[in-house]
Amino acid sequence: MQLDHTVNQIKGVGEKSSTLFRKLGIENIRDLLLYFPNSYKRYEAPVFIEELEVGRRMAVKAQITSKPDFRRVRSLTLTTCFAKDVTGALKLVWFNMPYLRNTLHTGQTYVFVGDISMKGNTLTMEHPEFYKEEDYKALEKVLQPIYGLTKGLTSKSIGKAVRAVLPLVDDIPEPLPDEIIEKYDLMYYSDAIKLMHFPEDEELFMKARKRVIFDEFFFYLARMEKLKEGQLQVTNHYVINENDIKDSFISSLPYKLTAAQKRTVDEICEDMAGDLVMNRLVQGDVGSGKTIVAAISFLVCVKSGFQCAYMVPTEVLAGQHFEKLKKLLEPYGVRVSLLCGSTPAKEKRMIYEGLKAHDIDLVIGTHAIIQDKVEFKELALVVTDEQHRFGVKQREKLSKKGDMPHVLVMSATPIPRTLAIILYGDLDISVIDELPANRLPIKNCAVGVNYRPAAYKFITKEVAAGHQAYVICAMVDENDTLEVENVIGYTETLKEKLPPSVRIEYLHGKMSSEEKQSIMNRYYNREIDVLVSTTVIEVGIDNPNSTVMMIENAERFGLAQLHQLRGRVGRGDAQSYCVFMCGKESREAMDRLQVLVDSNDGFFIANEDLRLRGPGDFFGYRQSGDPYFKLADVYNHADVLRNAKRAVDEVKKRGMLEEVIASDLRGGSYTDINL
Ligand code: ADP
Ligand code: MG
Repeated sequence: MQLDHTVNQIKGVGEKSSTLFRKLGIENIRDLLLYFPNSYKRYEAPVFIEELEVGRRMAVKAQITSKPDFRRVRSLTLTTCFAKDVTGALKLVWFNMPYLRNTLHTGQTYVFVGDISMKGNTLTMEHPEFYKEEDYKALEKVLQPIYGLTKGLTSKSIGKAVRAVLPLVDDIPEPLPDEIIEKYDLMYYSDAIKLMHFPEDEELFMKARKRVIFDEFFFYLARMEKLKEGQLQVTNHYVINENDIKDSFISSLPYKLTAAQKRTVDEICEDMAGDLVMNRLVQGDVGSGKTIVAAISFLVCVKSGFQCAYMVPTEVLAGQHFEKLKKLLEPYGVRVSLLCGSTPAKEKRMIYEGLKAHDIDLVIGTHAIIQDKVEFKELALVVTDEQHRFGVKQREKLSKKGDMPHVLVMSATPIPRTLAIILYGDLDISVIDELPANRLPIKNCAVGVNYRPAAYKFITKEVAAGHQAYVICAMVDENDTLEVENVIGYTETLKEKLPPSVRIEYLHGKMSSEEKQSIMNRYYNREIDVLVSTTVIEVGIDNPNSTVMMIENAERFGLAQLHQLRGRVGRGDAQSYCVFMCGKESREAMDRLQVLVDSNDGFFIANEDLRLRGPGDFFGYRQSGDPYFKLADVYNHADVLRNAKRAVDEVKKRGMLEEVIASDLRGGSYTDINL
């Protein structure tokens, strides 16, 4: 067996599972070994029955006191029995496992692990796993890996496949030079891989994890360093000086720019009028008004006789920016086009020609605008929105479309300035640290599901007042199909619960671009009152008439993501509301959501998130899904980030940058974006 053998050559992995593995991006054995668990499950020490807490998943050692009872309820079968220890009694319930009545017998003692609830007056454990005491003791010592899954694959089956090829880890070459490994006290990568999958010892596991995080930062920074080499101190070919048009455009806007927006616009215009090419990051919390800053930059550029490109992470967002910028800029003679993956071939060809001939001044689109076929005649400014959704490579590719154009990147990620300087080391930074004055702070609440009827009533009231609402359905699990079913099912239920006059539609990532675009357009045109959606609407969407954001199963999201989602409301002058619906009876989950209730400030929330999670608490935390940093987190691992930066500088000093980047195991896929 070799690393580049396909997974179906592993014993026990058939054609069918290979297809499923492929869905997860796992083609060969190397991919499999580098597919790390998302989280880990720990089997905790059993407690007494009287110590069980409702809403938690816990383990208890108890003796079965009744013969299992078996019933059918609609399409379910229920198997129930009672168990006791010296402190109390507990009801055990299993769904669709009728054979258990032949396995479980009165008088047997097991360790039961399951979710604790109170049904009527009866303490109940739902769908418990159960183990013989000595088997459980063995489990207790080891963290169990939980992998990102697709329907049909279990963590157990992935773990088994990994186990089967684990010795091949030693064939994976070490990507970092020995001196770096020694100096920063890092574990060898091959050892780290083994421990990531099977963390037998917690201390060693922490070291393994640190190594993986170090590499994520290191290779990101190394690539950026390389990018910088080609970019620094480049003479400005496109001197842009259009202050008159800028001022008249700004005074024609229906609102006054905030001081922070003005300052940022000035910094950009100074850069573009200066001797060197601009490389600037604009950082501003959701709703701080970054789009208009981009619009002004485009206008001055085009009026100086040049072309511009605006790259955004999703088609929905591209469509929205296109509509907006067209309205704003066309009166000034700016010719705007939209180019996405789903643009019809014929139209694409016309846009390619238009860009090459400079019949188009501004193109807005997804990564479609960095395809090889796209050529510009006089590209002077490239802007990426929601920068954190792109890799360094995309940014690089976009600027290569021209001859050293000005580069502007926009981000809503609230990163402290010192860390931003490391992460975006090749960029100057402008911060929009102020929201438009007309904004009322969003009113928030974190509530349990029993509040749902009241929330529906509230949405109905807001809709009657002419406003609109979003309802976000969280993923049920990592599984795409389930997510779609979930959104559609939820929409149907919601239609039954709200008056028929309320127009409800849904949106999810699996819809075609035209469908998505049409739903969004109808939502902007107020033909839809309530939009039920997955997180596809998370980035950038702007409909100031929306005043309610209701997030189901809010406990499943990270705080930063919830803050982004909430940023979809409170964008106009009406009072807006955000309802965090907690699907789990858990003190801990509620405490976490309370951070968002207490604050609308992205920086504060990111810091609290860090504090609540604590540096050691990695287990079971859901990762952000950031394509670049799968485990690494700028807040949690600021120290590792600093070390990685030092290491990159050292490697560079020794002239080994190129060589080390080439040894990055994740290769090209590392910088691909997920659209
Ligand atoms: P983000 O920074 O999240 O990208 P947007 O650029 O989408 O924010 O702006 C959010 C909303 O605020 C938009 O509807 C925009 O028209 C509006 N807006 C931007 N600047 C101002 C301002 N200075 N005063 C009032 N409204 C503004
Ligand atoms: Mg935006």
